[in-house]
Amino acid sequence: MKKTKIIATIGPKTCDKQKLKELIQNGMDIARINMTHASSSFLKQIVDTINELNQELHTFVATMLDTEGPSVKIGHLDGGKATLTKGDKIRIYEQDVLGNSTKFTIGYTKLLETVKVNTTLKMSEGLVELLVVDKGHDCLLCEVVEGGTIFENHKVNIIGVHLALPFLSEKDKEDILYASKLHVDFVALSFVGTHEDVLEVNDLLINSNDAHMTILSKIENAYALEDLDEIIKVSDGIIVARGDLGVELPLERIPGIQKQIINKCHYLSKVSIVATEMMSSMEENIRPTRAEVSDVATAVLEGVDCMLLAGETTIGEYPIEAVSMMGKIIESAEEDSNYHEFLDKSMRTEKQDTTGSLAYSVVDCASRLKASVIVTPTMSGYTAKKISRFRPTCPILAMAPDMDTVKSLNVYYGVYPVFIENTKSFDKMMELARQKSIEKFTLEQGNRIIITGGYPFREVKHTNFMKIEDL
Ligand code: PEP
Repeated sequence: MKKTKIIATIGPKTCDKQKLKELIQNGMDIARINMTHASSSFLKQIVDTINELNQELHTFVATMLDTEGPSVKIGHLDGGKATLTKGDKIRIYEQDVLGNSTKFTIGYTKLLETVKVNTTLKMSEGLVELLVVDKGHDCLLCEVVEGGTIFENHKVNIIGVHLALPFLSEKDKEDILYASKLHVDFVALSFVGTHEDVLEVNDLLINSNDAHMTILSKIENAYALEDLDEIIKVSDGIIVARGDLGVELPLERIPGIQKQIINKCHYLSKVSIVATEMMSSMEENIRPTRAEVSDVATAVLEGVDCMLLAGETTIGEYPIEAVSMMGKIIESAEEDSNYHEFLDKSMRTEKQDTTGSLAYSVVDCASRLKASVIVTPTMSGYTAKKISRFRPTCPILAMAPDMDTVKSLNVYYGVYPVFIENTKSFDKMMELARQKSIEKFTLEQGNRIIITGGYPFREVKHTNFMKIEDL
């Protein structure tokens, strides 16, 4: 059973109930809805369908909202698109003009004030590139450095310029609050610039009297990298958003940044997620390339918690196969993971509290005693998260009496969350631990499980027991 989790973005190729069911059956742990492309009714439709499927399949698949974030876009284009030719000079206006291959609008009121000569603008995922060569009184004069087709309402990356826009637009606020009301489990924040952006979302959720959502910050430009440590500290986890990162920074820097972010998250006990183009050739082909297989496996070996599929599952021809293939690569790479190194590294950076120390001992014991599962009854999810940090060789079964807690644990490496009825009885909890682990992992007589938690249940705030049982 794979321990690294899979997030699949839902789009036209996967939004019907049958496809969502197949995604779940093939290993999707979290369904992501990207509000750059989706409407709030689409969000509701997907959340409702995942809830129905969870009931039918007895699963606990979670949902994720991805915000549009502060961005600037191309204005109206004649026919919706335009082709720019390398070497041509074109004008970009703040004011509305009907655009074509010689001029267009970027809907950003501070364009002329903030963009300087020699700034690079990128469009169409970075394939089209313009250089600002001069400034007129109402437009930027640009040279086309790399030509290609641009599309109305598509994003423009202004390289090295921090946009003078509020981090949360009214639309983003509405989307987040609506998602919270629908009990969406995760919010992924696009274009986080500083830790204060994350705190703003935290405040928004607290003021709405419902702060159940887990906050994940997407790192996608150089500006965010300058405040990386603080952003990690105030977030629940980080998404290495390689799509925009590869437009905003030289592509060759991505592997180093990815590794650095995964290490920092591990050090600070936060979740790390790698996103975008993990198997993008599967948008058209039934098999990934060798290089893509290696990319997925490398992320596992680096100790990532989760991987995110985007185009592969939104518009690709083989979305189910992409999830299934990713699961196979993960399982194989996990066979080759250096668990001792993960355990040592985590212990060296763990603060010496009771839960952390016991979590270390549980993971060490599970490996020495070849346990099949670590089971933890948990109220807030804290014990399960701590155990996950030490990267056990076996899965972690987290049993919680609160559905928000159950689903929030989906993003953590190795954690299989299940809902249980509340109980204060130790014996009943031990019975549940045996029963649920047999059900979930098809265990046999003689298999060993380790049960850990804090007793009396709901009263102690830290983990204080470990029980080893042979079935
Ligand atoms: C990315 O840029 O890699 C990403 C995940 O964000 P989005 O899909 O919103 O572009």
